[in-house]
Formats: sequence, C-alpha cells, structure tokens
Amino acid sequence: MTSIDRYAVLGHPIKHSKSPRIHKLFAEQTGQALVYEAHEVPAEQFSSAVETFFANGGKGLNCTIPLKELAWAFAEHKTERAQLAKAVNTLALQPDGSILGDNTDGVGLITDLIYNHGIKLAERKVLILGAGGATRGIIKPLFEQSIKSIVIANRTLEKAIDLETEFVNFGPIIGCGFEALNNQQFDLIINATSTSLTGQLPPLPANILAENGVCYDLAYSNCPTPFVRWGQENKALKSLDGFGMLVEQAAEAFFIWRGVRPLTEPVIKLLNDERLN
Ligand code: NDP
Repeated sequence: MTSIDRYAVLGHPIKHSKSPRIHKLFAEQTGQALVYEAHEVPAEQFSSAVETFFANGGKGLNCTIPLKELAWAFAEHKTERAQLAKAVNTLALQPDGSILGDNTDGVGLITDLIYNHGIKLAERKVLILGAGGATRGIIKPLFEQSIKSIVIANRTLEKAIDLETEFVNFGPIIGCGFEALNNQQFDLIINATSTSLTGQLPPLPANILAENGVCYDLAYSNCPTPFVRWGQENKALKSLDGFGMLVEQAAEAFFIWRGVRPLTEPVIKLLNDERLN
C-alpha cells in the first residue's frame, strides 16, 4: 500500500497561515503528490507534536512563531544558515531517519528583493529594525549581496549589540538603539520587528530614508502595514511587505523536501490578486 507524503506547518496561532495554500499550489504546478496541513501547536507541546508527526510517517515540517528556536534545538543536524540563524523554519526527514533543520527565511528575502522587485543591493547601506530570529536569518544573506553596511536598531539594545559581536566577521555591522539613528540615512530599511502584527510602528526619526530608498516590512497583511505606510509617506521608491518572502521561503522548503523548484511568480500573482483585491 502506498501512502501520500505528508507535510505540515506548526505554529501558535496558525489559523490564518497561507502556507497550506502555497504548498498546494506548488504541488499542483509541479505534479508532486503530497498533502500539507496546518497544526496549532503551543510551545510546550512542540517536541511531542514533532515526534508524533515523524513517527507517523510525516516527511517534513515548517515551523513558525513561536517555534523556530525550539525547532533549532530539536533538529539533529543543521545547515550552516540554520546554525547562524539559531532558528529553524524547515525540518526535513533524511534517508537515515534523522531530522535536518534549515532556515529558508534569508534566501526568501533576498530572492524577493532582487528577482521579484528588481532591487539592487550592492553597496547599499541597510538598516534592520529588530534583533529577533528573523534578523539573525537575514544578516549573512544580505552581506553575500555585497551590501555596504548594516545597522541593527533594536528596542532592547543588548540584543542589537550581541548581533554586532556575533556577525562582525561577515561585514561592517553596528548594533544600536532607535535613538542613535538620528542624522543617519539608509538605502534600504527592513522592518524585522513584530510591531506590524499589532498595528504599531518602531520609533523612527524623520529623514532616515535616503533618496530612492526602499522600505521592506517582513510582516505582510491584506492592507498596507504601518511600516509600509511609513515608507510611502517618506517617499520610498518602493515600500513592500513580506508576502513575496513568504512564498519564496516556502519554495525553498519545497525544494529541500521534494528536490523540485516550483515557479513562484504565478503563485505570488494569484495570491496577491486574492489578498489585495
Ligand atoms: P521575534 O519575536 O524573534 O523578534 C521580534 C522583534 O521585534 C524583537 O527585536 C523585538 O524587540 C521587536 N519588537 C517587538 N515589539 C516591539 C515594539 N513594540 N517596539 C519595538 N520593537 C519591538 O520575531 P521574528 O524575528 O521571528 O519575526 C519578526 C517579524 O518578521 C514578524 O512580524 C514575522 O511575522 C516576520 N517574518 C516574516 C517572514 C516572511 O516570510 N515574510 C519570515 C520570518 C519572519 P525586543 O528585542 O526589544 O523585544
């Protein structure tokens, strides 16, 4: 008897996750036979939920807020990018029965910026707002695009300084508080705080976006997030949300699991038509 390969996303909350839809579209497009579900799993039930999923024949999992650090600790083997991020969003069953942990957020962001939005990153001065798990996952991928420098501004100063110390060997990087941003200008400002999820905005000084600068909110919503609106009000060349990143990181996870790379453009277009119209 053959059974269909099973995948799922775990998170808390998870009800509004778009991942099942995205992976269904990828599977249809590439002719892959699989099912992908969403399971609400609080942090304290994470290990037992993952063990049960794989014990029952599951092939791979995505993990989202607040489970990425737990997934990192759970994975027996980790890719280099997952090690650096200290957060795992993709678990994959290996042929020997072990579980590999990967982090596809960084490649998702870079692919969306460069290929979907045509943004040039070389020699750009980048400001990242926030110093959580998502920030950890995007620092090295940004430096790999030959950007000029990164400033990380965070509410809790200590966490920004810790990231500066940890990533200093990858390129010019400074950690600071929001008040230290006065009188500086950036070509690309990435909001990696979770403020948009509660309709808030980090405390940003005026005039920090350079002429023709770009704003990118990792969060996404069916209407412009507060940070996307801030970018529009501050005359950003483009002010984008993280929906494209969501689809791109999913495509990378699909590739890890299935060895097949889906086309993301038609999926982004279809889902954008649905969510924005
Ligand atoms: P974390 O919880 O790890 O980090 C949250 C960050 O937000 C911290 O730096 C925290 O600061 C900051 N923060 C929270 N509230 C405030 C506030 N009121 N004012 C200022 N700063 C605040 O979250 P993640 O790094 O995992 O995720 C960050 C965002 O990125 C989320 O919106 C998430 O949905 C999004 N994301 C999107 C992805 C996509 O595919 N599009 C992929 C991954 C993440 P402090 O340290 O002081 O607490």
